[in-house]
Amino acid sequence: MIRWRELLDRIDVGWLDRGRNVQRGWLAVRCPWCDDPSAHLGINEEEGHWRCLRCNKSGRSAPFLLHALGARDIDKLLREFDTDPHRRVSAVAADRTEKIERYAQRWETFKPAQFDPEALRYLAGRGFPDPEGLCERFDLRTGTGKWAGRLWFPLRDLGGGLLGFTGRTMRDYLEPRYWTQATEVGLYLPELPGPEHSRLLLVEGPVDALRVAGVAIDRYNELCVAALCGLAIRGLRLVQLKALAHSLPDCLVSLDASVSRLNANKLIADLKVAPWRTIRRFPLPAGADDPGGMTDDEVARWLS
Ligand SMILES: [Zn+2]
Repeated sequence: MIRWRELLDRIDVGWLDRGRNVQRGWLAVRCPWCDDPSAHLGINEEEGHWRCLRCNKSGRSAPFLLHALGARDIDKLLREFDTDPHRRVSAVAADRTEKIERYAQRWETFKPAQFDPEALRYLAGRGFPDPEGLCERFDLRTGTGKWAGRLWFPLRDLGGGLLGFTGRTMRDYLEPRYWTQATEVGLYLPELPGPEHSRLLLVEGPVDALRVAGVAIDRYNELCVAALCGLAIRGLRLVQLKALAHSLPDCLVSLDASVSRLNANKLIADLKVAPWRTIRRFPLPAGADDPGGMTDDEVARWLS
């Protein structure tokens, strides 16, 4: 149900709720089609349908009527004044689609990082043996303007659709360390889970995932790796992560050394949907803080 009285007040359209032609449960406004100065267009407050007594124009679409009445930002108005949760959900879905389209357009303006000397220097500096191959293989990119100085990782859903991106700063002075533009789901998957994968490894950051994927892709191709991109895992993000965790027979969780065992266990408990599923902690080797800070050889030894 739309709260018509408040909505009409907001868009500055005068209304009557009583008078010669106005029945109970109806509001009358000036008809935008016949534009007679008196209020001949009735809106049924409860059902939402509307009809002009003079020109007989009628309908049920609130956006259509609002447009005729000269309202702007109609989606936003309906989100605010519509108390129907189903319609609110569809407005949220429309908003999400719009965001995803915007992110996809932005992503296309980023250039492949293998052509960016700063990105290659940054990855070489972090001990990646083949920065060019890595950028190409995992579709890493860099941007210009306010997007410059970061290595951008695509964030995708399990079907491969782009949901946004997250950028790791390559310059010490740039804050925050990761800048994310994405809808609710913020997992980074260097590779989508496929039939060759039998084991999922969850790590914290995109660089951790990149390190593991770079080693695993040649030597342990049964391993699919995903970065959690932050430990606040709720709502749709949790749903997505659960689906991923349970799409493969085995699931391992390896959080940074700085994360307490308690937090790791909490995450494992959150991911567990069935008691027979084993989701295990897979601790880092002694002395390592995170996979991103290990060498390829150390990661290979750890995975074996
Ligand atoms: Zn009319």
